[in-house]
Amino acid sequence: MESVLVLLHTEADGALPKAAFEAVGAAGPLAASLGSPGFAIGILGASTAPASAAVAGAGAARLLVAEHPAFAESRYATDAAAAAALCRASGATIVLAPMTARFARAIPGVAHRIGGRVDTHITGLSVADGAVHATRWFYRQRMEGTLTRAPRPWVLLLDPGAHQAWSGAPGAAAPEMVSVEVTDAMTRTRVVGVEAPAAAQQTIRPDADLLFVAGAGWTKKQADAQTHTQDAQTLILDFLRASHASLGSSKSLVDQSGEGHAVLTFMSHMNQVGQTGSTPRHPKGLATCCHGEEPHVVGWRFITERRAVNLDPNCGWARGKADVLYVADAFAVMKAVNALLAAGE
Ligand SMILES: Cc1cc2nc3c(=O)[nH]c(=O)nc-3n(C[C@H](O)[C@H](O)[C@H](O)COP(=O)(O)OP(=O)(O)OC[C@H]3O[C@@H](n4cnc5c(N)ncnc54)[C@H](O)[C@@H]3O)c2cc1C
Repeated sequence: MESVLVLLHTEADGALPKAAFEAVGAAGPLAASLGSPGFAIGILGASTAPASAAVAGAGAARLLVAEHPAFAESRYATDAAAAAALCRASGATIVLAPMTARFARAIPGVAHRIGGRVDTHITGLSVADGAVHATRWFYRQRMEGTLTRAPRPWVLLLDPGAHQAWSGAPGAAAPEMVSVEVTDAMTRTRVVGVEAPAAAQQTIRPDADLLFVAGAGWTKKQADAQTHTQDAQTLILDFLRASHASLGSSKSLVDQSGEGHAVLTFMSHMNQVGQTGSTPRHPKGLATCCHGEEPHVVGWRFITERRAVNLDPNCGWARGKADVLYVADAFAVMKAVNALLAAGE
């Protein structure tokens, strides 16, 4: 009989990341399909009480925690030791963990330590003939594969955004403590600080409800035969500030910086969506001044509701790639949208 463990870590503030609730949401149906008597949750962190309370109502049969001040920060040696101890204590054959940056680094080593196997970027779980099947995409999201494995424990890192998050009120938790020996050698690596753009300047927001894509049209000559790059920059940044959308780009726009053309200074190749860019997951997407060519739109595979603003009624979006195409000047549209947002409408 399979037994399922959901392995989680706390964030710096002691709370669980959003992806943790998605892993918890995936565990219940999986355990039920397997006919398991329930599932376990294991949490590592410096102080796990708020996290334990947050998932107390999720229906887990066991709640295991590994606490130590050294588990406050992301570090391979301590994360791997704590995660391996939780896996062993649970006796689980299937381990589900959110694919956060922290776990993406530590969990493959954990699978090795516990004599198991690991698969990453899992987007779906199902049970057929009593066997667990996991799905993931290959070749930059071009092919979806379904895999199953015989060795146990089988550790599955779940891609954020692919599973329905469990939600429920915090409750009273009575976790079992799992002790982990933390040696000096393990804590030789220290986090001395985090260098990251200020939240307001961070334009890639995986948790945003909306993906806002800017295309090369924003820097092209407009009806008055002039470019309006500064206006474009202001309109886009104002919209991002008001909407908290995540910013995506076409390849043409981010490539311009290398060609010495006028550029949007806050845009980098990290923003590029498409065949040679990223494939983000957001419920909605809005493309502006972007033609909607196949190599770009292939990156919209996981965007559920798609809209585009383009002057060209024959652009790629009009050919079945968007749910709604507004044939309009994106400068005028975004100015009006920003005015509505500023007015709180
Ligand atoms: C192997 C390969 C891989 C590729 N990978 C990627 C990838 O990963 N991602 C990607 O994006 N591309 C990729 N491309 C490039 C892709 O084919 C397109 O060339 C690119 O997406 C075009 O970018 P764009 O739509 O921003 O620019 P353009 O094609 O120049 O389109 C600009 C659009 O802006 C519109 N416009 C201009 N002014 C306004 C206005 N005021 N209001 C509204 N609309 C306006 C125009 O009508 C036009 O449709 C790849 C190509 C190849 C060959």
